[in-house]
Amino acid sequence: MNRLQAVRGMNDILPDEAERWEAFETIVRDWLRAYGYRPIRMPLLEHTPLFKRAIGEVTDIVEKEMYSFEDALNGENLTLRPEGTASCVRAVTEHNLLYDSPRKLWYMGPMFRHERPQKGRYRQFHQVGVEALGFAGPDIDAELIIMCQRLWDELDLMGVKLEINSLGSTDERKLHRSELIAYFEAHQAELDEDARRRLHSNPLRILDTKNPAMQALVEAAPKLADFLGAESSDHFAAIQDMLRAANIPYRINPRLVRGLDYYNLTVFEWVTDQLGAQGTVCAGGRYDGLVAQLGGKPAPAAGFAMGIERLMALWDSRQADALIDRPEAYVVHAGSGSQQVALRLSEGLRDAGFAVLMHCGGGSFKSQMKRADASGANVALILGEDEIAAGEVTFKPLRGGEQQRVSMDDVAEHLGMLLLGGDSEDFE
Ligand code: ATP
Ligand code: MG
Repeated sequence: MNRLQAVRGMNDILPDEAERWEAFETIVRDWLRAYGYRPIRMPLLEHTPLFKRAIGEVTDIVEKEMYSFEDALNGENLTLRPEGTASCVRAVTEHNLLYDSPRKLWYMGPMFRHERPQKGRYRQFHQVGVEALGFAGPDIDAELIIMCQRLWDELDLMGVKLEINSLGSTDERKLHRSELIAYFEAHQAELDEDARRRLHSNPLRILDTKNPAMQALVEAAPKLADFLGAESSDHFAAIQDMLRAANIPYRINPRLVRGLDYYNLTVFEWVTDQLGAQGTVCAGGRYDGLVAQLGGKPAPAAGFAMGIERLMALWDSRQADALIDRPEAYVVHAGSGSQQVALRLSEGLRDAGFAVLMHCGGGSFKSQMKRADASGANVALILGEDEIAAGEVTFKPLRGGEQQRVSMDDVAEHLGMLLLGGDSEDFE
């Protein structure tokens, strides 16, 4: 029989890598707690109209990237979530979480988009999403950006650069929109198929094109910035003041419009040139209309999402590996009666809080010691017939240090001292 394979664009994250992901997630949780964000977990499946309404009918995601299907059992139209903001706002509205105070929420998990798989672009990928609901900004907009910088610093990421823009208000976008349509109509011949289709339904989206042949045209298009009124300009200026005060360099990118329709005022992206074409590691902005659009009582909101695969590709794997906890002891045992003693010893050490790998599957001392070495444990605890007869355990440090016999009663204490004692550079 032929071997089964994972669905294209959907990756297994194997143990070496999964441990690095866990190290990353621990840093992320601590970082979010430091800013007062609380977790929320939404389902992976939602009713399809949620995403159509939130993200917009005329967007890449809704037009061509969603995994939508009809539930064979009850005929409901369902979609695997392509992003988290829509679900988060749906949940907040459904459970009336904004009734007495604003909310700072975060989530992490898989998202699904039917895109062409390539480095940094997958069909199942993962995001950390951060949403501040009920805050009008601009202070929270600036804080959202500043907190990203803190994470990059904690991860020691180099060369992640901030781009910002303002999308203004609905009315301002309307004015810009008609100018944009007139401009693109005057250049009909240069438009690609997507652009021609979107010309009248969603011309702003044309600015988000990834088609190299259209870049010059889009570069010279009317800029939304020229249509912003005083209120929008002030909001944008206030954010920039705060970014300057926080010493965060930024570039205003007038072409930054984001691929989702729900944004207004502030939008931002963190980009790097180290990941080829898939250079955006984090993106977000303000979405003041979305809560009402999904049936909630109107409430301002802003947030961002970062792509975990892209961040993991940037993060130095050595730094991640240094944060991974290995087993502290590997119990090696052979000879009659050793099985029970090994089991009792291992459970006793776990009671005392140690991470212990007990050798399973038999084999010679030599082969067991090989496994012990490969496990990454700090020390092998050896139980042979000699040791068992004497009521002792042989400690064999696996990363340098002298072998030693220790009484069974003192094993936990000795292990604790050994781990703390700096016998090896790992325990400093
Ligand atoms: P792109 O322009 O790269 O398609 P996007 O604007 O569609 O990104 P968002 O919806 O803003 O992306 O998602 C936020 C982040 O999630 C992106 O900046 C990126 O880091 C990550 N991301 C989005 N789509 C994918 C994907 N298919 N595979 C891996 N990561 C992704
Ligand atoms: Mg995309």
